[in-house]
Amino acid sequence: MFSSSIFRSTSNYLLVNPYIHQLFHSFNSINTPLSKKQTLIDPNPPLVGQAIEIKEYLRENSIPFDESWTCIKALCCRSSSRISGLIHIEKERGDFVCSKCSTTGTWLDFKTQWPHLKSRINCPKVTTAAIQLPDKERIIWEQSQAIQDKDKELLEVILARYGFTEEYTLSSTTLQRYGIRIYQDQLIAPLYDTDRSLVDIVVLDSPSNSDTKPLKLSAPFGLNILSARNAEIILVDSIWDALCIYQTTGKLAIALPNTKFSIRINMAFEHLRKIHIWYTNDKAFAFRLSNILNPHRCFMITYPMNAHSAFKIGHSLKPIVNESFAVINKCIEQFDTFRDLIRDELFQRTRFAGTQWQRFPMLSQIIKGHRAGELTVLTGSTGCGKTTFLSEYSLDLCTQGVSTLFGSFEIQTHRLAKVMLTQYSSLNLTKNMHVFDKFADQFTRLPMFFMTFHGQESIDKVINTMGNAVAIHNIQHVVIDNLQFMMGMDYSNGDRFFKQDTLIHRFRKFATNNKCHVTIVIHPRKEEDEGDLSVSSIFGSAKASQESDNILIIQQKKLANAAGGNIKYLQVVKNRFDGQLGRFALRFDKERLSFSRPNATRDDVDDNQQQQQSIPIEQ
Ligand SMILES: [Zn+2]
Repeated sequence: MFSSSIFRSTSNYLLVNPYIHQLFHSFNSINTPLSKKQTLIDPNPPLVGQAIEIKEYLRENSIPFDESWTCIKALCCRSSSRISGLIHIEKERGDFVCSKCSTTGTWLDFKTQWPHLKSRINCPKVTTAAIQLPDKERIIWEQSQAIQDKDKELLEVILARYGFTEEYTLSSTTLQRYGIRIYQDQLIAPLYDTDRSLVDIVVLDSPSNSDTKPLKLSAPFGLNILSARNAEIILVDSIWDALCIYQTTGKLAIALPNTKFSIRINMAFEHLRKIHIWYTNDKAFAFRLSNILNPHRCFMITYPMNAHSAFKIGHSLKPIVNESFAVINKCIEQFDTFRDLIRDELFQRTRFAGTQWQRFPMLSQIIKGHRAGELTVLTGSTGCGKTTFLSEYSLDLCTQGVSTLFGSFEIQTHRLAKVMLTQYSSLNLTKNMHVFDKFADQFTRLPMFFMTFHGQESIDKVINTMGNAVAIHNIQHVVIDNLQFMMGMDYSNGDRFFKQDTLIHRFRKFATNNKCHVTIVIHPRKEEDEGDLSVSSIFGSAKASQESDNILIIQQKKLANAAGGNIKYLQVVKNRFDGQLGRFALRFDKERLSFSRPNATRDDVDDNQQQQQSIPIEQ
């Protein structure tokens, strides 16, 4: 059901290149080396961790910071542009490392070094060699052979010696994926660092032997295939487990070193939304791991045997993984879980305002940015350009790396994509066909996904699709255009508004639970002939308006001159983040199908500022 509900880009000409796609999810955390000096897991970790103290300190010293699953992040030097790396401070223990210059140390070190760090103009990028093996291992690695498809028979013999039967055996594709090689009739596994340099190799022992004396890994196995596209992984304690799970579930499995855990692994895992942990040998360690990785995204697998044993006797691993249980029951919360959030909201200034719109600077000025987990409602009377505006508003964020799932229930997707492509190119493409392929190729690389739904659709199906998209494509922004078309129009009036409010509630919950921004377009209840639309023109009840974080209205006024025509502006009537309200003019450019002014290198950039500021902000 999932694969049929979402697709990337709209036509055959928009091909997908997974490598380029990755560029659009540039998580600097993946490209940093694992510290040689690794920290042992504290046998008695503190329950709350260091997070509160760390944040207290950062606030006192006016250091702006952002927060992710396991780290608190601050800029590494005084420049706030891309020149600076991000210092990641681990919440549990306070260890820190910079994603770019690799400065690293304990929390105490951070406090001593901070005055020096913040005085620097930039932090220098550190690069490491691709292969960092000791001589003996390097020779083995150089003499080993990559597995090729023609090695099928040899591989069968080798795997049989490892105890795999004909029926339940590993495929060459699986082994190739993880970079396993053949060396003197044995298999060797490469261990890669978080910066993807090869740091160790392991000559594989028979799985039954590794059951009795588990292999001690010096570095993680499988990190080389972890990418920003993965939203979900399975952590295991052996290489064989990782291979069997990957092959049967298609999900990436990683075997971790069982005594060491460095902050760089935290950073490499920072974008993951779901981490299953399948440790058979050391359950206590598994729970400590979930504490470090943030229990809110960890799921335990408590199957009575390890993955490769289950695989070899024909148990299906897929349902086992899918039935893992949440470490923290999401329906129950303690005050501690939101204590920090409340404090941050009270202080405001320490929260990052979110992604800024490049095309609508006034929108950024009023609502400060696009933030995760919020619900935005957009309305405006028929024909005012809601879809066209929404297309440009979401495209703007998408070009900055916000992966977007667009549900267009009213307009066919290819028509929407045509508008988006025109907005993206900032040109009338009908008159500029020679550059079509250039822009289409670039557009393909954007993390923009479309739902295949059209017309009426059940909310359960839509929410389910959204959930899958978040898990698989790491979607950060979902757009629903529009609610009435999704609901179908055949409701009697009172019924319809009740239903509408119920749906808004479902989307609100989805946004919060998935830390995903949801933007919904709603037709106003009735169109005002004169006067502006207001919050009460949209919702059936006050509760529904309370559930939205931002409410935007496209207002339209007829001009009282002979030429007719009308003036449009975007009005922010609700902004939960900091309360500022205001409006700015929207002038439609028919050539570019855009509400923004063309940017850079054109003479009318200043005109843009004037245009957008021609209506003063109202408080
Ligand atoms: Zn740095």
